[in-house]
Amino acid sequence: MIFVINCGSSSIKFQLMDPSSEKVYLKGLAENIGSNRSLIQYEGKQELVPDMDYQGILSKILALLSPFHKDLTAIGHRVVHGGEYFSESALVTQDVLDKIKSCIPLAPLHNSANALGIETCIKTFPKLPNIAVFDTAFHASLPKHAYLYAIPYQYYTKYHIRRYGFHGTSHRFVADAAKDLLTMHSKLIIAHLGNGASVCAVKDGKSVDTSMGFTPLEGLIMGTRSGDIDTAVLPMLAKKTGKSLDQLLEMLNKQSGLEGISEISGDMRLLEEKAEQGDHQASLAIEMFCYRLAKYIASYQVPLGGCDALLFTGGIGENSSTIREKVVGYLPHFTIDTSIHAKLKRGASGIISAKDSPFIAVIPTNEELLIAKDTDRIQKSL
Ligand code: ADP
Repeated sequence: MIFVINCGSSSIKFQLMDPSSEKVYLKGLAENIGSNRSLIQYEGKQELVPDMDYQGILSKILALLSPFHKDLTAIGHRVVHGGEYFSESALVTQDVLDKIKSCIPLAPLHNSANALGIETCIKTFPKLPNIAVFDTAFHASLPKHAYLYAIPYQYYTKYHIRRYGFHGTSHRFVADAAKDLLTMHSKLIIAHLGNGASVCAVKDGKSVDTSMGFTPLEGLIMGTRSGDIDTAVLPMLAKKTGKSLDQLLEMLNKQSGLEGISEISGDMRLLEEKAEQGDHQASLAIEMFCYRLAKYIASYQVPLGGCDALLFTGGIGENSSTIREKVVGYLPHFTIDTSIHAKLKRGASGIISAKDSPFIAVIPTNEELLIAKDTDRIQKSL
């Protein structure tokens, strides 16, 4: 059994699973960590742990593993930022841990939580191997002309300012799954649409461009993130509102996107309901989301030199036929077969394109399974 742990800034997700049978033995989530509302949920149980610190919650989660201890072979960690060090998953050694920590300035909240998670697991289970699976690693294959920003080159060499891309584990999972589902899969465009959202162009199994950049803020309109914006807006807003750069960045990350435009919520399901009831701002937010996404998809035919398949994944991509149809409606040459589409079960995998269109398909992502499989492969090679 492999224990998969995703230590976020204020949440921890975990799963204990057998990567071969894909059977999940334990699954849970700790939320609102560091607040008086923090709680741990697993197997239908819910335990309130108000004001318990991160380390305390981690220890409680690891204690849940005691009935399974003798079957546990390794621990797989989701790590957000691997900087330019990691192009694939890695067995955690002191050197690997030092490199993960050296990426903390690139993703302060996430990588520090990831490093703490790894250190706590090493202390609790000193005999088990820990494997780090990076969100950025899949995008290590981006060519330089795709990952550099057009700012003075010295900022790249001195401060590592460049586009890194995220959601790599999900994009890799979907690209792999496409091989089983489709006859043509060398030029893929994958739209991962969850609360965070990104598009990735995958050529012959390698990421060649992606919409998130130095941080997950760049690119698509997301639940609460603005995506692309002219940075000259920031000094203008600082002057007008008296807000600091940090406060404005927080606004772009947490109060923008679907939530900012709709003034209702960043939750797509709710916005679809409100739009149906005639709310204009909800409709506008949905239209902007689909329009920006379609522009990215169309542009990714440049790095790919065409497109064999467009793949939807993530909570919105897997569940919302409305969004899929709206996005494809903006794209010349791509057509959905609406009668097949209407029959596709929510959350199921399937091809939805018309005969004269490049493939369009829905593929549910499973990042935990990919982390478990990578972890298993690496621990077996030791
Ligand atoms: P995260 O990025 O946090 O993992 P998810 O991948 O779970 O998020 O996606 C969450 C998003 O998916 C939310 O905006 C939610 O409203 C949306 N979503 C889930 N189910 C549906 C649905 N049936 N119709 C429209 N949107 C949906």
